[in-house]
Amino acid sequence: MTTDRFQIKLWGVRGSLPVSGPAFRKFGGNTMCIEMRCGDHVLLFDAGSGLLPAGAALKDEGQKDLTLFFTHCHYDHIAGLPFFPPLYCDKSRLKVWSGHLDGTMTTMQMIESYMRRPFFPIGPDLCHACIETDEFQPGTVLTPHPGITIRTAMLNHPGNAVGYRVEWGGRVVALITDTEHEPGTLDPAVLGLIAGADLFLYDATFTDEDFAAFKGFGHSTWQQGVRLAQASGAKSVGFIHHAKRRTDGQLTAIERRAKRLFPGAFCGREMQVIDI
Ligand SMILES: [Zn+2]
Ligand SMILES: [Zn+2]
Repeated sequence: MTTDRFQIKLWGVRGSLPVSGPAFRKFGGNTMCIEMRCGDHVLLFDAGSGLLPAGAALKDEGQKDLTLFFTHCHYDHIAGLPFFPPLYCDKSRLKVWSGHLDGTMTTMQMIESYMRRPFFPIGPDLCHACIETDEFQPGTVLTPHPGITIRTAMLNHPGNAVGYRVEWGGRVVALITDTEHEPGTLDPAVLGLIAGADLFLYDATFTDEDFAAFKGFGHSTWQQGVRLAQASGAKSVGFIHHAKRRTDGQLTAIERRAKRLFPGAFCGREMQVIDI
């Protein structure tokens, strides 16, 4: 171990579908992929289209030992995995975890079920990397490497999703990618994950103004992220899972409004690096 750094890199912060074009240049169009660097260990969360640039950078850097945690397996969180460069490198070792499948299938069965014909030309058996998979029940505490503690909890999302709280070197970062809140309440499971966090990343797909039209879609609002930040003692909240049509101009305006309510609030940007 050469350092105790805790560094977060946002490789993809868009929800639902990748987007591109001049309206999305500032905040980016790739779907969910978050890197957490705890000392020399690389933890990846979700395999959206942001996993492609993440994998290319990690391969260039010579990182051989990677751990990937799925929050769940909706397309915006898995579509990048078949294109992850380290999968095809025989020197890579990839450990993949999921906790949302509730015994219906294993993590490997989930991957095999979409990395197959007619959806994709090859299966994981043709990948050269050493791939190991495992499952956990939400609520389990994981210790992927000595000194790294990951607490998990079930979120309120159709088909399930898992929220993560990563503790390393006395610092805390939580990741809440997809969850629907009940207006007027604060989800105790989310509060448990974000309590006192240095940073939590939060599903801000909708706004309080448009939320009522999307009941049951499984997502939250930036205003709920602010309420959670104020109640939890968290130092900062980064909004992620931006709606696919939310433009740079709209996100900049949201960020301005949010900072007036909670100075530690910001809209997550693709390629953003945050030292905790
Ligand atoms: Zn999603
Ligand atoms: Zn989802």
